[in-house]
Amino acid sequence: MPNYWNEAMECMDPEEMRKLQDERLMQTVKRVYENVPFYRKRMDEAGITPEDIHGVEDLPKLPFTTKADLRDYYPFGTFAAPMEDIVRIQASSGTTGKQIIAGYTQNDIDNWDECVARGLTSIGVTRKDKVHVSYGYGLFTGGLGAHGGASKVGAAVVPASVGNTKRQMTLLHDLQSTTLCCTPSYALHLAEALQEVGLTKEDLNLQYGVFGAEPWTEAMRTEIENKLGLKAYDIYGLTEVLGPGVSMECSEKQGMHIQADHFIAEIVDPDTFEPLPAGQEGELVFTTITKEGMPMIRYRTKDLTVLHTERCACGRTSPRMEKIRARTDDMLIIRGVNVFPSQIESVILRHAEVEPHYMIYVDRVDNTDTLEIHIEVNETTFSDQVKKLEDLAREISADIQSVLGIKAAVLLVEPRSIQRSEGKAVRVIDKRKLYK
Ligand code: AMP
Ligand code: ZN
Repeated sequence: MPNYWNEAMECMDPEEMRKLQDERLMQTVKRVYENVPFYRKRMDEAGITPEDIHGVEDLPKLPFTTKADLRDYYPFGTFAAPMEDIVRIQASSGTTGKQIIAGYTQNDIDNWDECVARGLTSIGVTRKDKVHVSYGYGLFTGGLGAHGGASKVGAAVVPASVGNTKRQMTLLHDLQSTTLCCTPSYALHLAEALQEVGLTKEDLNLQYGVFGAEPWTEAMRTEIENKLGLKAYDIYGLTEVLGPGVSMECSEKQGMHIQADHFIAEIVDPDTFEPLPAGQEGELVFTTITKEGMPMIRYRTKDLTVLHTERCACGRTSPRMEKIRARTDDMLIIRGVNVFPSQIESVILRHAEVEPHYMIYVDRVDNTDTLEIHIEVNETTFSDQVKKLEDLAREISADIQSVLGIKAAVLLVEPRSIQRSEGKAVRVIDKRKLYK
């Protein structure tokens, strides 16, 4: 039996939930209009007042908020609570420019912990579990977010943070932790360390993996599950909106349940920004409806996904989002064709001879875009004859071409020659950007 979940909220009748969202949205809009000059200015410019917002159906009237806005009002310009009520500051990872600061009141932290606790409970984690957290602790929301949720469940939390991978593996073994929280790329790295310290997955006691902070494919899920002997679940979030726990998969693995009593999700067309119906892919947009420290109105995440609103087999009624296919700003345009790294990843993982460690290089030579993919081969394949390796590279290259519609040069590289990541993996080097 789950020992931490909020049945009233998670299984609420959708119409009731809608009413709750209407009410909370109106309060939020009023609060930000009164307390945050940035939002007041935006709403004034759009010619709307809080009285024009009667509920979720009026959301499209409100202006979007973007990362650029948060940078312009850095560091505290979008806070809606006085500093004496702020109890925590976190920051976004800052991979795409200057970092964003987020402020939380105690209520915000309590809600955050509950969101993560609901997610962990939905996959079966209880107070009897030992939860090893290998997300980075610090300004990055991963470590403290997972920590807070696991503590709320009452599990024994091991705050391992990142780094010293072999020692982490020894800890996982010695403490027989049941749950691992980290980025999917770090999970693979840990799986390698398992071999290095001479252990097998049977020597561990892992049952659940809670992986997020970066896009990962279904093929990657299978790979990690096989290597670590656990069930891998996706957890999603972003600093601007909360941190991890905005949504998470339940044991059904049919999309990530969004905590609808705290966040309203919309999908919009990434080019026109017009709202799209459930079932269609587009950019995910969030409005927070309980946050006090830094509420967000229609925050454009740049993450591409699809929403589903039918009740899940687990009984929860909350809307679910599919795995993030990509970020709009991760999309590469190569010789005019849109390419997402996840498409390349799925092809790579179909080939047993190579490892899921790869790096995509894009360049421009003689005015033509080039795409080169370095992929690690496994130890057995590496000792094969050159001819066999050449055939394999050709085969993968042909597969990639059939998926992307453009040619890619595939270079098979030695085992362990591609840099491992401890947090969010960097998988693309676009040299064209250097010339700009
Ligand atoms: P940050 O708040 O800076 O740590 O990063 C938030 C971003 O990380 C999101 O907008 C997504 O692009 C990405 N992200 C977080 N969780 C996931 C996930 N489960 N799948 C794919 N991308 C994710
Ligand atoms: Zn479910």
